[in-house]
Amino acid sequence: MESPGNLFVVAAPSGTGKSSLVKALLELDAKLAVSVSHTSRAPRGQEQHGREYWFVNADEFREMVADDAFLEWAEVHGNLYGTSKAAIQSRIDQGEDIVLEIDYQGAMQVKQLFPQAVLIFILPPSWEELRQRLVRRGDTEAAVIEARMANARSEVAQAKHFDYVVINALFETALFDLKAIVHAARLKYAAQVRHRSTVFQALNLL
Ligand code: GDP
Ligand code: ADP
Ligand code: 5GP
Repeated sequence: MESPGNLFVVAAPSGTGKSSLVKALLELDAKLAVSVSHTSRAPRGQEQHGREYWFVNADEFREMVADDAFLEWAEVHGNLYGTSKAAIQSRIDQGEDIVLEIDYQGAMQVKQLFPQAVLIFILPPSWEELRQRLVRRGDTEAAVIEARMANARSEVAQAKHFDYVVINALFETALFDLKAIVHAARLKYAAQVRHRSTVFQALNLL
């Protein structure tokens, strides 16, 4: 599958601050949109169907897998998560930039399909801080926190397969780093030819 727009894939252990950072990034950049994933996990807090996720049960999810409806999918912490083709197809067709907020297994699948995808891994500043963020967010069940902490330890080992690493210590600094990555991707030769074709024509480069 060929994508003329930029495809940004952001992965991080749960609780690192990925959703907060991507939300802030989108508020600053009207040209970016995030893909809404499907999940079999139950909504948390104020989460709304169709906004944070499309919430489906495991049977509905498996039916979509059988129908080849997903670009990628993975099991994370015992729940199923996936990016539906429908969620991103129209934006890809229009050459628009998309952000996928997915786990590292999904990120690896996307890189296979779109080698030009920009893979960004977000790291927490420490294990203690990650645990505190999970607690502060309201993941109060000790077993849930321990499962996410255990997963986080194996997930961070995957950061080396990503193009960029952002450390989310100070939120504003991490947001600035993310903006810089998006900005740099838009300055790549192929992207500039696409968006600034009149300049390239004027310079007889096309
Ligand atoms: P964008 O991709 O068009 O949003 O532009 P940039 O990401 O390059 O910059 C976003 C904002 O950060 C602009 O207002 C820049 O002036 C500002 N900026 C540029 N360099 C720095 C820097 O080194 N530190 C900080 N804190 N801000 C900067
Ligand atoms: P993720 O999407 O990676 O699971 P969230 O965006 O839900 O993580 O963030 C987890 C918690 O950490 C939230 O309560 C969020 O407000 C908080 N948080 C995010 N970034 C920072 C930061 N740089 N410093 C302190 N707290 C943060
Ligand atoms: P949470 O339940 O905290 O929202 O997300 C748990 C994990 O599932 C995170 O690592 C998140 O990135 C991942 N995830 C969310 N949506 C998708 C998706 O569509 N595909 C894949 N592969 N992972 C996802």
